[in-house]
Amino acid sequence: MNILQDQFDQDQDMSDYITFAHGLYIGGKWRPASDGRVIEVVDPSTEAVIAAVPDATLGDTADAVEAAAAAAEAWRGTPPRRRSEILRRCFELMTERAETLAALISLENGKTLRDARGEVAYAAEFFRWYAEEAVRISGEYNLAPSGANRIVVDYQPIGICILITPWNFPAAMATRKIAPALAAGCTVILKPASETPLTAYALAALYEEAGVPPGVVNVITTSDPGPLTAAMLADARVRKLSFTGSTGIGRLLLAEAAKHVISCSMELGGNAPFIVFDDADLEAALDGAMIAKMRNAGEACTAANRLYVQAGIHDAFAEGLRRRMAALRVGPGTEADTECGPMITRKAVAKIDRLVQDAVTRGAKVLCGGEAPADRGFFYPPTVLADVPSDSEMAHEEIFGPVAPISRFENEAEAIARANDTEYGLAAYIYTRDLAKGMRVASRIESGMIALNRGLMSDPAAPFGGVKQSGLGREGGQKHGIAEFMEAKYIAVTI
Ligand code: NAD
Repeated sequence: MNILQDQFDQDQDMSDYITFAHGLYIGGKWRPASDGRVIEVVDPSTEAVIAAVPDATLGDTADAVEAAAAAAEAWRGTPPRRRSEILRRCFELMTERAETLAALISLENGKTLRDARGEVAYAAEFFRWYAEEAVRISGEYNLAPSGANRIVVDYQPIGICILITPWNFPAAMATRKIAPALAAGCTVILKPASETPLTAYALAALYEEAGVPPGVVNVITTSDPGPLTAAMLADARVRKLSFTGSTGIGRLLLAEAAKHVISCSMELGGNAPFIVFDDADLEAALDGAMIAKMRNAGEACTAANRLYVQAGIHDAFAEGLRRRMAALRVGPGTEADTECGPMITRKAVAKIDRLVQDAVTRGAKVLCGGEAPADRGFFYPPTVLADVPSDSEMAHEEIFGPVAPISRFENEAEAIARANDTEYGLAAYIYTRDLAKGMRVASRIESGMIALNRGLMSDPAAPFGGVKQSGLGREGGQKHGIAEFMEAKYIAVTI
């Protein structure tokens, strides 16, 4: 029985199902953890417990691998056209239920309804994109340079995949992995973040309804991911680890995967520079900064983490940003007029506050915000800091919150040097009316993605990923994302 079916009844009050202890989803069946333990899910706006999900044991995890293995042969043998149609159906169902899914994301994550709706649209788009890619996987055929034989290259599904995702985009980080994996013919085990498991389970029910066969997608939640992941990676049938999360955990998992020589894709942390040149369109740069900084209240790996503004436009930009940030309505994400929701946990608020106080101690000026309120809920006010020194901790660490630190620069060379002064290299933003300068600077910034005169770059049709400590591999894009879930098999043929 599909225990989550009811939640898609549009007439039903959300509270009817969020208190339900959702099952682990293994082999197409919903079940509690084998020792009955649960993880509580907290609404970050109120700190109230809204649901409990099973806390998987090592035995449950082994069952999930077993289920993925049992389904593997039939799924890789399913015609690409059929796989494509199922993925397309996932897109359609997500789109039909966008409002319910957005409300659920907003509730467990805290992001505004507007951001949650944007996430559902983005997440669903991965199914549409990979429905189109599933039937376009092509091999290679050519004559060896020696003339002795033909080189035939076949692309095959890599095998069972472990997918681990963060809480900041509970739907999109999962579909960005599941859709290409299924298109390639792989079966998967998804381990979502325990802060936001409800969206992952809601989507599992939707995949089932779309026709994804039992065992092709399995979902488990755990409060102790280290040992459970290590056990899954030690199973010789598991051939892929695709992780999105912090660089620190990514390094641990790379080391764990190395023991078994498992292919890894790593989407890790960021520290994006946002560069505004004197010749930028001021209003466009401010619009872009608000999107790049405040989408998800700053809880995004691509969030503008350091704003470098050229001396001639600096004061006007700082004042414009202060005015916009100070005007934002802070509140529960689920309320229609909220423009900045809560952070995910109290620990996250404490980290943001530590970074702000460190910058202020080193000489930064607070233009607005800058202090955590004592009320219930994990809120932090939209904050703008000016004259943030380059030795402040926030210049080198992800803030992951609604804090915009501005620094002044004089010339192009200085902007590039300061932008590259980080171990990360995920995203960067450049504002200038001079396209040649924009392209020149883009080519010299050490980053996997650049937005030129835009505040947003994510697109399922473009390769998403970072360089340096921001990761390995790409998700989405033409060929890139799906290639992470396939192996090339070379066959030498004499004819
Ligand atoms: P996190 O690294 O703490 O957790 C990510 C996931 O890993 C969660 O599911 C968590 O339960 C799991 N995890 C934690 N410890 C583990 C272990 N020892 N073994 C196996 N799994 C483990 O990150 P987070 O706080 O959930 O997410 C925020 C981070 O994710 C930020 O650094 C952000 O930049 C990054 N992120 C990157 C991208 C990207 O595409 N590059 C996208 C979104 C978020």
